[in-house]
Amino acid sequence: MITALRGTADILPPATALWQFAEHTARDLFARYGYAEIRTPVFEQTELFVRSIGDTTDIVEKEMYTFADKKGRSLTLRPEGTACVVRACLEHKLFAQARVQKYYYLGPMFRYERPQAGRQRQFHQIGVELFGSYSPLADAEVISLMVRFFEAAGISGLSVNINSLGDADSRAAYRDLLREFIEPKAGQLCPDCQRRIERNVLRVLDCKVPLCKEALEAPGMPTTVSALSGPARAHYQRVLESLTAMGIPFREDARLVRGLDYYTHTIFEVTHTALGAQDAMGGGGRYDGLIEQMGGPATGGVGFALGVERLVIALQHVARKAQQAAKTVYLVSCDEPALAENLVLADALRRAGITALAGYEQQSMKAQLRHANAAGARWAVIRGSDERAQGAVRLKNMETGDEALVPTVALVEKLRETGR
Ligand code: AMP
Repeated sequence: MITALRGTADILPPATALWQFAEHTARDLFARYGYAEIRTPVFEQTELFVRSIGDTTDIVEKEMYTFADKKGRSLTLRPEGTACVVRACLEHKLFAQARVQKYYYLGPMFRYERPQAGRQRQFHQIGVELFGSYSPLADAEVISLMVRFFEAAGISGLSVNINSLGDADSRAAYRDLLREFIEPKAGQLCPDCQRRIERNVLRVLDCKVPLCKEALEAPGMPTTVSALSGPARAHYQRVLESLTAMGIPFREDARLVRGLDYYTHTIFEVTHTALGAQDAMGGGGRYDGLIEQMGGPATGGVGFALGVERLVIALQHVARKAQQAAKTVYLVSCDEPALAENLVLADALRRAGITALAGYEQQSMKAQLRHANAAGARWAVIRGSDERAQGAVRLKNMETGDEALVPTVALVEKLRETGR
């Protein structure tokens, strides 16, 4: 038997209802903030990710699905969305259209990681990118959008962790401090990190190798906040003030880093206790140099991405029921002619916007009511020779068991009255 690849997953009903709910909630909310959807290809030139994410990051060094196509070009399955969105905006000259641009995306991402609960090789992200502002208010709005999204999805118990890497000056100062701290411990580090000390010392911070993590636990480890320049500190303070003004609780986490090179200033991550070891629901930050570095105009940017698999785990944890089931009407046939009549009636109900299910073969009443229950139907519509003689159907409330005879022509109206 051919099976799905390790680290990939089929998404099956009833979980698909939660996926749809998550996607619908995102589209609806993001539109209210003025975001429009953008869809980009799942594979790109490898160079795009190497240049934007950084050639010393874990993602680029270890996790990319990179392959040569039949013409020998190096292609990569996208490991994240921001680089793709920026590439598309540059290619289609969207930055010239309006000063502030807001885009969101939904779709699969690919990273060659060790699969475990909440960590896959093909996973899905929902993300937003706000281009064209350097204001800390934009950072705060993007963070608030992420939090409001989780709230709209019915998730509570989240923690918002936030930190600042500062501007170019701050980051240069921090790199010096970190190098000074880590160089004496170089012997303890993995070979990748030993190289990173010279090439890109910040990336030592997000190495997943236990020995490297341990080396960073030592006393005296410098924080990024301690190296912030005056303007960078002021930017960070404004972000925190704006979050407070919107009533968004957060925790400053001086140890927070994000494993991509393009981040500047504010970085953040949202975690949830239901997730266990892989507790990050999503994260993001500001990336002011990225667009320029990729050949575009100097443009501020800030965004986030959240993991849909992890969101669905959290949704299952809060036992949120799929909304669909409660609206369902199940059509029960007591004799052979009723089967065909119910096909026509189901067609009419569906055209009236009502979810209607019916069987195709004659079965006992008991079996049909069992199917109705399994489908989570709120109503059963029962018809046989008695009902036919009266031009009516019997409407059974599946919760209370109450039944009433309703003229067939009045059924849609009756179901609408009940809010179904
Ligand atoms: P990142 O930008 O790498 O922090 O990713 C943003 C979010 O995507 C994370 O917080 C996770 O929720 C999700 N994510 C990242 N990598 C994976 C993965 N391998 N499997 C499942 N979800 C992931």
